[in-house]
Amino acid sequence: MNAPNKSGWKPESPAGDRPRDDAATTTTGNRALMLEEALIFEIGTNDTTGVDLPEPDANAANRLGGMERVEAINLPGLSEPETVRHYTRLSRQNYAIDLGLFPLGSCTMKHNPRLNEKVARLPGFIDLHPMAPSSVTQGALEVIYQLGEWLKTLTGMAAVSMSPKAGAHGELCGILAIRAALEARGNARRVVLCPESAHGTNPATAAFAGYEVEDIPATPEGRVDLEALKKRLGPDIAAVMITNPNTCGLFERQFREIADAVHDAGGLVYCDGANFNAIVGRVRPGDLGVDAMHINLHKTFSTPHGGGGPGSGPVVFSETLAPFAPLPFVEKHGDRFELVEEENAGEHHASTFGRMTAFHGQMGMFTRALTYILSHGADGLAQVSGDAVLNANYILRACEDVLFAPYADSGPCMHEALFGDRDFAEGLSTLDLAKGLIDEGFHPMTMYFPLVVHGAMLVEPTETESKAALDQFITALRSLAERANGGDMTLKDAPVYAPLRRLDETQAARKPVLAWNDPNLT
Ligand SMILES: *Cc1c(COP(=O)(O)O)cnc(C)c1O
Repeated sequence: MNAPNKSGWKPESPAGDRPRDDAATTTTGNRALMLEEALIFEIGTNDTTGVDLPEPDANAANRLGGMERVEAINLPGLSEPETVRHYTRLSRQNYAIDLGLFPLGSCTMKHNPRLNEKVARLPGFIDLHPMAPSSVTQGALEVIYQLGEWLKTLTGMAAVSMSPKAGAHGELCGILAIRAALEARGNARRVVLCPESAHGTNPATAAFAGYEVEDIPATPEGRVDLEALKKRLGPDIAAVMITNPNTCGLFERQFREIADAVHDAGGLVYCDGANFNAIVGRVRPGDLGVDAMHINLHKTFSTPHGGGGPGSGPVVFSETLAPFAPLPFVEKHGDRFELVEEENAGEHHASTFGRMTAFHGQMGMFTRALTYILSHGADGLAQVSGDAVLNANYILRACEDVLFAPYADSGPCMHEALFGDRDFAEGLSTLDLAKGLIDEGFHPMTMYFPLVVHGAMLVEPTETESKAALDQFITALRSLAERANGGDMTLKDAPVYAPLRRLDETQAARKPVLAWNDPNLT
């Protein structure tokens, strides 16, 4: 094995991950401004560091009581500029919302306004310690309180819990409140119903909270089958979990009837509110009979997401569930804000199901989301949902003649357009088209979800894309669909232009290699 070039460039790398044949013609392996990058372990050394540490005090030998490290720690060392370049090069091999359109359905990858970032970095918020007494955290408590009030107003709900850290965590919060309310009535019941098109987190949440999960069938037009649901309702049904707008991109027009039927049968209604971007400022889920709903601040309210976080999934509750909401929460007394914890929960303490987290650690999401809401105002938020829906319909109608759109006849879509692989030539799949999108310079759309559509492609452009950007995306999508329909097998080679070619995704998921082993030692 060649010693890695200290600049971080890999002089020779395995042929398998060579992006293009012509890349081999440069001495460095770099292609123009796209630099080849080795692992930090391959370029770092034991005796380099980006910081100057003081020489250890000769007399300090026994300060750790014999627990001192005796062997080298073997972490790769780089100078400061080498470190900065290493991570900058790696970041250039990735795709980001700041690079281009990111049509990942259900994920609402909208632009993150820089104003939000500026506010989130104000020292008064960013330097706050979670254990600081409320006398010095009044501003932060006011932000949490005000954001909660906005969420209650926008959803028409009675109470809010700001502590869940993500959508799935919010679902758990909502279902635990439902369980507590049913237990208070004497019976937690046994089954939670979820539509076949539900996000995987819904059945997972119900199971995690100790419920059995059963499917609710869908109508041919892609909505919940009300009559089938009514037949299944009974004393064992604790709740339904329904996403609205649903993951086929359609509004559940009979939501009120569904909620009434579930309530009449003594059950409660959970709404997965991850798709709130399609209806914010226009529909209040509280008016539709919802008892609990999570809101993804990192989707609808533009706080950054991807790579597993950070997120924030506040939950709003109906009057029925409000007493069971978790601690802590913020209350306003006169012009003071108070964090209600176990010690000062008063009567609420008897009914709350407990707490989800120790601290409101996602404070940066709160400042960003409130900034977003205040800078748009109620009118601006209604325009957000209107434009998000308009953009998705533009894509749906511009592509439906070349890309099978299973619910094209069910009326306008909401914020996302759903396609399937029905018309692709034998041997070509949704995966091939998605990899082709990478070559065209776009992040692929959500694939193979929802499960109810074969080879599903779920495209969510969001309101932050211009018509010019949508037109460019549509041109790429149409040309890929035509290649797939026409049996162009070169699509199987895509991506050709990405830093790495087609990766083995099954191996990556099943046998991830998460630790680096020095090949010279093994
Ligand atoms: C994103 C999403 C979730 C889960 O939210 P996380 O913040 O990723 O946990 C749940 N349901 C739907 C429909 C979603 O799109």
